Parts: sequence; structure tokens; C-alpha cells
Amino acid sequence: MPLTDAEQKSQQLTLWDFDHSEHSWSVRQSARARRLSVRVFRHGGVEIVVPPRTSPQRVSTFVSEHREWIERQRRRSAPPQHWPLPPALLELSALGERWNCLSCPGAGRARIRALVSGELQLLGAIGQAEALRRALVGWLSQHALRRLEAPLRALAAEMGVEPQRLQVRCQRTRWGSCSRHGTISLNVCLLFQTPEVLRYLMIHELVHLRHMNHSPRFWADVARHEPHWRSLDRELLQGWRRVPSWIFR
Ligand SMILES: [Zn+2]
Repeated sequence: MPLTDAEQKSQQLTLWDFDHSEHSWSVRQSARARRLSVRVFRHGGVEIVVPPRTSPQRVSTFVSEHREWIERQRRRSAPPQHWPLPPALLELSALGERWNCLSCPGAGRARIRALVSGELQLLGAIGQAEALRRALVGWLSQHALRRLEAPLRALAAEMGVEPQRLQVRCQRTRWGSCSRHGTISLNVCLLFQTPEVLRYLMIHELVHLRHMNHSPRFWADVARHEPHWRSLDRELLQGWRRVPSWIFR
């Protein structure tokens, strides 16, 4: 999708101030906006709406003035629906996998056993919700690490970049990040997104190995590898809705 000038500009605004890897933030330029405003979505996404011709400095000041309020709202943002724990099913759309969960309460701490049949056994003291949550997040993170390393390396080779290391983390505010030392971090919640969104996020972080910013050159580079980056990036903003609420304490 070709970008209008306004869209280009609003994309450029995202670069400077927010941590470069926070994909749940966006800046939207609106012809109707009279002043700057901010919206916090239920799953922690933040949108800053700005009138035309607002300077990046102005946005930066606005954000730092409201940062505390924004963070408070984000912490409060509640998941839209209740996902029961223990879960009956884990649908890892990014990998095209469905895991049926079978509760097997027993002795010892809560733990997870994955069977080749696609069944996930929840063993031990699974009545202790926090322990079970940790066990599930731990299993998901390890699973993601095992399953995402190869596709990440393959993409990187295609793109001619070389990440040092992949790590998987469970974070409320970031989908991914790329460190100066070449470590790519992916959010375990990406497992619940579509394969296309996962691929886009990987490309996005890998391009950061070449551009540690969100400059027009960065986006041009992203667009070379994923022409539909813009709609996929939007999808990611709403991506928290796909994540089971129990993932976060
Ligand atoms: Zn980025």
C-alpha cells in the first residue's frame, strides 16, 4: 500500500522518542485533531493522535508529560474476556498448532508435559493458579525458542543479516526488540498471532540490525522484505486481544 505524505510523516514520528522496539505504540496524524491526545487500549496499546504538522519534538514533550498517566492506564487495562485457567486448549496460530490441555492434578509443583499426540498434560498442584501460570508460560517460552530459531535464522540469511542470539520473553508492552549486540527478543505472545504477523515482526527486528531506529530508510528496508508491513503492524497493535489473559499475572 503506497503511503501518503501524512502517513509517511506519522510513521516517522514513531521513531525518535519511544523505545525503538515498542510496537504497541503508534502516532497517528489526524486532519481533524485540534490538539494532541492519547488513547490507551485495553491490552496496553497506546495511540497518540496529533494535528497535522505537529513536530516530533512537540510529540516527544507531550509523551513525557503524560508518561506516568499512560503507564498507569496501561497497568490497569483489563483483558476483554476471561480465559479460564487451566486452559482447555492452546491455539498457537503462529505455528499452526493446537494443543489440547488435559488436567492431571497430583502431587508436586505444577508442571507441563507435552505429548507427541498434541496433548499437553498439566500435572501436579495445578489448583495453584500462579504456579500453573508460570509453568505454562515457561513451557510456551521454551517451545517458542525451539520452534522460532530456525525460521528466524532462515529469514536472516535471506536478508543478509546475522543475529547473534534469540531470546523469548513474556512482556506486556513489547512484541520484540533488537539489542545493539544483535540479540533478538521475541515476545512469547507472538505464538498467538497469525504466521504473517510473526514473520513481519521477525523481519522488523532483523532490519534493526541494520538500522537501530525507525527512520524512512528503516521502513524502506522493511518494505523490501514485507510489502504489507503497514497492515501487519496495525494488526499487531490489536494483537493483544488474541493473547489469553492468564499469560499475565
Ligand atoms: Zn522497531
